[in-house]
Amino acid sequence: MPEQYDVVVVGSVNADLVVGVDRRPAPGETVLGSDLATHPGGKGANQAVAAARLGGRVGIVGRVGDDGHGALLRGALAEAGVDLAHLAVTPGPSGVALITVGPDGDNSIIVSPGANARLTPDDVAAARDMIAAASVVTFQLEVPMPAIEAAARAAASAGARAVLNLSPTAPVPAEVLAVCDPLVVNEHEAAWLLGGPGAADGADPERMAAALLGSGPRSAVITLGADGVVVADAEGTARIPSPKVEAVDTTGAGDAFTAALCLRLARGDSLRDAARYATRVGAAAVRRPGAQTSYPTPDELPA
Ligand code: ADP
Repeated sequence: MPEQYDVVVVGSVNADLVVGVDRRPAPGETVLGSDLATHPGGKGANQAVAAARLGGRVGIVGRVGDDGHGALLRGALAEAGVDLAHLAVTPGPSGVALITVGPDGDNSIIVSPGANARLTPDDVAAARDMIAAASVVTFQLEVPMPAIEAAARAAASAGARAVLNLSPTAPVPAEVLAVCDPLVVNEHEAAWLLGGPGAADGADPERMAAALLGSGPRSAVITLGADGVVVADAEGTARIPSPKVEAVDTTGAGDAFTAALCLRLARGDSLRDAARYATRVGAAAVRRPGAQTSYPTPDELPA
């Protein structure tokens, strides 16, 4: 185990099972699809791999099943150089995302949490040495809330910076929000948090970011796809543009962004500088298909 980690991810590890379809079956109907493709995924694993590929010292706290997917998922994380000392193997199935991709590239996704649902505060407690050696601890919402609450508490008591990517949306206790520095969301998640879709349509992102900051975190970041990001903290709000790239597949771009943000914060960047770097990583990730397969090394970033 390294003595120090840039980023420790407490989060999900899933196998993405992807089938292309001309159209989706109606209830009771069967349709034929393309060959099945199996990719390593899950927001936690994606962020761990993205940060490691950028040169970060990264550990993950999570659970996979004792099935074939679990072996594949551990292999992908190990290959990226992620420390697996606290990736437990649990009896039963790994988490999977069942993904159908329609002719326009539109995704429909069912997530079966599998082993991810068995991540407990005890797992987080067992990783206390790893968390205490982390500059940044980051979590998303694909694992149970008690584990996230434990991670937030562990980060705070170890003096590590906590970053929450509030995705997928779910209510988060005020004590967790209060340690987030920053809270990272996309536009839809921001609108959900601020109470209603109307908050997204035509709402000014700077105002939304300021409102998020008012809801409890120490700082907030809203990602806006090709339009960049808005950052809000004690210094005010700032808009940071995305590099112009040809987008091929945006799957996992948000995870790449968050990972890069965490890594640069761990290395001492200001939130604005970290966000500027992270937009280059997010942009690089949309130039290639897939999630983890699309993640860049530092020499592959756009200017
Ligand atoms: P999510 O994938 O969570 O919905 P976004 O779509 O906001 O999040 O994308 C996250 C980040 O990925 C953006 O802030 C940006 O850095 C990058 N990104 C996404 N789409 C594009 C694009 N079309 N061009 C350039 N960068 C992009």
